[in-house]
Amino acid sequence: MSNQKKEHRVIRECIKELRAGNLPPWKLENELLSKYGVNEPENFRTAAICRQRFIEEKTGEKFKYITISEKPFKINYLCRKDKFIWALDARDSFLKCSLCGSKVEALDQYGPLVENYIGGSENYYSYAGRIKVKGDIEKEFTNLLVYGTGLGPIGVTRGCFKINKLGGAIVRVSEYGRAARCNGYIFKSEKWRSQAIDLIKTILPRIKVEMNKKMVEFSGKVSTVEFKRVESQGDFILYVDYTADFKNFRGHGDISKAVGYAKKEIEIQLRKAGIEYELSVIAQGYDGDLKPSPQNKRGRYASAEIRVSRTVFKRLLKVDPQKFISFIKIDKIGAQELGCQFYSGMGGEIIPAIYRAVQVNPRSPLVSSFQNIYIETENNDVVYRVELPNIEVGIASSREGLIPPGGREALRIMGVNTAREFAAAVAAQVLAGEFNLALEISREKLYSS
Ligand SMILES: [Zn+2]
Repeated sequence: MSNQKKEHRVIRECIKELRAGNLPPWKLENELLSKYGVNEPENFRTAAICRQRFIEEKTGEKFKYITISEKPFKINYLCRKDKFIWALDARDSFLKCSLCGSKVEALDQYGPLVENYIGGSENYYSYAGRIKVKGDIEKEFTNLLVYGTGLGPIGVTRGCFKINKLGGAIVRVSEYGRAARCNGYIFKSEKWRSQAIDLIKTILPRIKVEMNKKMVEFSGKVSTVEFKRVESQGDFILYVDYTADFKNFRGHGDISKAVGYAKKEIEIQLRKAGIEYELSVIAQGYDGDLKPSPQNKRGRYASAEIRVSRTVFKRLLKVDPQKFISFIKIDKIGAQELGCQFYSGMGGEIIPAIYRAVQVNPRSPLVSSFQNIYIETENNDVVYRVELPNIEVGIASSREGLIPPGGREALRIMGVNTAREFAAAVAAQVLAGEFNLALEISREKLYSS
């Protein structure tokens, strides 16, 4: 049999095993080595091909832009002087130690670029299984992560497998995502400030109509306008904080433009009415732009939970539910003792990994990575929930953010068509990652080498 023919046969058989659920996708490299005699480093590429084909079969979408590199593995090199082992992408031909400048020596040691690698040459994509969601969104998503080193993608895959077995994650996702922008004013007396508030409230209906016109391309609508008074060193400060609702866009640029208009218009009216102000500016502090605050109004609320009866918990997950509950409790209190406003555990890693995979805006997932975690018992059920209060996303490649073809392909393969679906998929994957980690820790299996 020719080599090519043999490779095709091996790939076919591995996919058959993946399909039947007999072979976890992260064990492909080993299976190819031990069962089919595909040696290192060839097995890394073959494993990636198997996973790609399997995903294509499951989703009906083709990989075109997320391509498997010719040499998708890493090689270890030794710097004798520093007694340090470099792990480099096999394509990397700069074979010098950047610490001391001496040449490094190749060791006969290989490894995957990332766990569950499926493609990408600058961003290494990992497959992280599939997740079933129900509730506000009913769908099954394919999970692609650009996670980097670590076992994260495997943890998410394992968590998803368990959650799917328990019927899927119950998700709640708000219909609209919000964008926020704030105007700030300084007055020299309470009298001027009160008069300004009255005037702004009077002209607000007309201003809102004009603001909505500026957000029409992305169907944005002003949803709330909030007044906040603060006194500081003789200054009478007023914040006027605007939020707008967007269905599939992030809306950041549009709300900024609309609030810029409101600022100018209000200044004209204040002057006309003879109301004296010291300062009128865009005040990004109060609108929460990249500020980690539980009051941050940006983005979309999403939560995901599972309910498991205590008996099923013990039988299926092989953990005493009480021990699991106590672990979550001690972990949560630990974060509170540290002064954290949010729990933000695995979410802090998984959410950026999803954003990197789809390459949608925002570029900084700081606010979107806020996460809370809850554990409750209801009757005889254990209810475990994660909450993401601020998921931001613009789902379409547009003026507000270009999504490269690989990112759009990732969205298609994931099965994400709307921003609401994106938020649901993110919440469910964070739930899966947290759940798997919490189970491992409760079983005292983690960090117990
Ligand atoms: Zn060196």
